[in-house]
Amino acid sequence: MIIIIKKGTPAEEITRISQELQENWQIKPEVVVGRHHTIIGAIGDTATIDPSIFQEISPWIERVLRVEKPFKRASREYYHGQASEVIVSTPNGEVSFGEHHPVVVIAGPCAVENEEMIVRTAKRVKAAGAKFLRGGAYKPRTSPYAFQGHGESALEMLWQARQATGLGIVTEVMDTVDIEPVAEVADILQIGARNMQNFNLLKKVGLQSKPVLLKRGMAATMNDWLMAAEYILASGNPNVILCERGIRTFDCQYTRNTLDLAAIPVLRSLTHLPIAIDPSHGTGVAAFVPTMAKASLVAGADALVIEVHPNPAQALSDGPQSLTPEQFDDLSREMALLNQVINDRVQPVPALI
Ligand code: PEP
Ligand code: MN
Repeated sequence: MIIIIKKGTPAEEITRISQELQENWQIKPEVVVGRHHTIIGAIGDTATIDPSIFQEISPWIERVLRVEKPFKRASREYYHGQASEVIVSTPNGEVSFGEHHPVVVIAGPCAVENEEMIVRTAKRVKAAGAKFLRGGAYKPRTSPYAFQGHGESALEMLWQARQATGLGIVTEVMDTVDIEPVAEVADILQIGARNMQNFNLLKKVGLQSKPVLLKRGMAATMNDWLMAAEYILASGNPNVILCERGIRTFDCQYTRNTLDLAAIPVLRSLTHLPIAIDPSHGTGVAAFVPTMAKASLVAGADALVIEVHPNPAQALSDGPQSLTPEQFDDLSREMALLNQVINDRVQPVPALI
């Protein structure tokens, strides 16, 4: 249940309402301060409680809403029907993800291969406007014989790239035992598609404070995905960014996955969380990445995840879907132009006045 508090309600009254919920109803209150209103999330067994009873707790209560969806904290209602933001500290300053902020680009190779390549790639993607460097130290590979990532030593290389460029780092954590070392280097922890329903991992990343990029499982419904986000939120970490990366459909002849761009408007209506799109894993083909990156921008994505490798033909993983730095430069230029159009869309065009 969501209790919407009237504007100007004294802080002591919010505390009193919260206490009453806890003591008389055994409900865990969660106060969320939004742009326009403050709400109290009433988490617990509220199914049989009539919302009008809560309404009577205080004259400062504007409205009481029942959240019918299985995901509560992730629901749009939980954030006053607005979009929330995830603010990430990087050495270059704070970067905000969300509907009310510029699109954030996360770029870099699939895997960290050596220090020279990761630092060189970091410099190139930074120059093209990326705010985060991505690169896997721990790689989830279909084959046990394929390159599994350099592990801990790759974390050290990511740290060097972070020092050299000031870019934030996004890297995947696959195992609960690696959360601590990964979080020492990463500014955002990635949960990969294959681990989207690894509930122990979700609970544990929810217990630490670094933001989480939660990729959509390749056969996950919207509800599965949002319930996975709910695990992280319920464990206490409010900073979750959702990332669509393509799903499995019947047609995988020409693309690796089917990039579900309809996820953007669907998620917008269901959740307040920021939305990222990964056209690299979404298509699996470098030649298709720029088109789908631009389409994502126009469809309203808050962030893009793009694989860039200095020499895709020699890449140890995901070479066929990786852009060269030059291709990424071109795409960045095109996206900058497109972004102006998108940002200007609500302003009158002088020639038409
Ligand atoms: C990746 O980002 O390199 C990756 C393995 O992604 P996904 O989990 O979406 O397959
Ligand atoms: Mn990859």
